[in-house]
Amino acid sequence: MPLTDFPTSSRAAARAGAVLTIDTGALARNYSQLVATGAADEVAAVIKADGYGLGAAIVGPALWEAGARLFFVAHLDEGLDLRQILPQARIGILNGLMPGCEADYDQASLMPVLNHPGEIQRWSRWCESIGARRPAFIHLDTAMNRLGLTWQEQEALAADPASLGTISVAGYLSHPSSADDAASPVLDRQRAAFDAIRAQLPSAPGSIANSPAMFRQAGRGLDIARPGCALYGVNPTPEADNPMECVISLHARVLQVRSVRRGDAVGYGGTATADRPMTVATLAIGYADGYLRSIGNRGKMVVNGEEVPVMGRVSMDLTTVDVTDLPLSGLAAGDWVEAIGPGMPVDRVAAAAGTIGYEILTDLGRRYHRRVVSS
Ligand SMILES: *Cc1c(COP(=O)(O)O)cnc(C)c1O
Repeated sequence: MPLTDFPTSSRAAARAGAVLTIDTGALARNYSQLVATGAADEVAAVIKADGYGLGAAIVGPALWEAGARLFFVAHLDEGLDLRQILPQARIGILNGLMPGCEADYDQASLMPVLNHPGEIQRWSRWCESIGARRPAFIHLDTAMNRLGLTWQEQEALAADPASLGTISVAGYLSHPSSADDAASPVLDRQRAAFDAIRAQLPSAPGSIANSPAMFRQAGRGLDIARPGCALYGVNPTPEADNPMECVISLHARVLQVRSVRRGDAVGYGGTATADRPMTVATLAIGYADGYLRSIGNRGKMVVNGEEVPVMGRVSMDLTTVDVTDLPLSGLAAGDWVEAIGPGMPVDRVAAAAGTIGYEILTDLGRRYHRRVVSS
């Protein structure tokens, strides 16, 4: 975004050190685009971790508006909050059924994802105790050894489906371990195992695809897909161009522009030394805002379409960028620099930090002025 166009009309934006812009129009188009892939009959929206850091209260209603009816969060409390925001939505709780909290799920019409036989037993007892059928998903582990019924537990369930009692199975899910790696054969094996066990279990919808798996043959053709990251603009196909639209942009304010003499160092530890007379801009963003310390001396930001390298370590509240090569009039205190956005995709920021786009999003700070737009 050209600096001159960046709106600071509101007082909150004028006061802010950094502004996070969330484009619900782009989010809705990403949802529609995932639906249009035809990867699954229904596309659920995963909005755990406060909507991947964007704010569940912002992305939830926008995705509902775009047509999403089934949502997944990780924690019971996230589900209880979401229920207040989306009274009509179907909501699944990925982390399972917290012991002793069965009534909390039921009263808020939340569907636990039952991850082990103990949870199946507790939910079926709950259904029995209230004399009613209640929906839940059942997680079948096919690769990750993290959550979900083991292969032996799946076979035991197939041999004794009566152990489900009056649980109404909303669907079976399994989670891909390696769908982001186009060369990995694991998703094919997971799909084969998932299809094989589902054939032996009481009939219910199946769901295996996260965002990347929606773009792989073995992830397609089931009832429900469960994308998260792709909705928010992370590239679900790392081996190819990003098919998704950019949803967030993050602009940091210039606090100072200063000249640095040749041989002088910048920032903590003096890890970057000026090899010529340089110009450095100091920005009001730091690792306390989720602009990770590992970006220091590695990342880049964007000023009027020009990339400027981060110079020195990222501090808690400040980051320094080398703007020596910008035109003289390039930058002044009060201007805005794009740290994430169309010119600096979240995946590139992640690569500089040695992590993945998911972590950049979920670490987004709480000090930003958050601005919601709909393009
Ligand atoms: C987080 C999560 C998803 C979404 O994954 P993305 O890679 O962000 O699309 C889907 N299913 C489960 C079980 C998850 O935990």
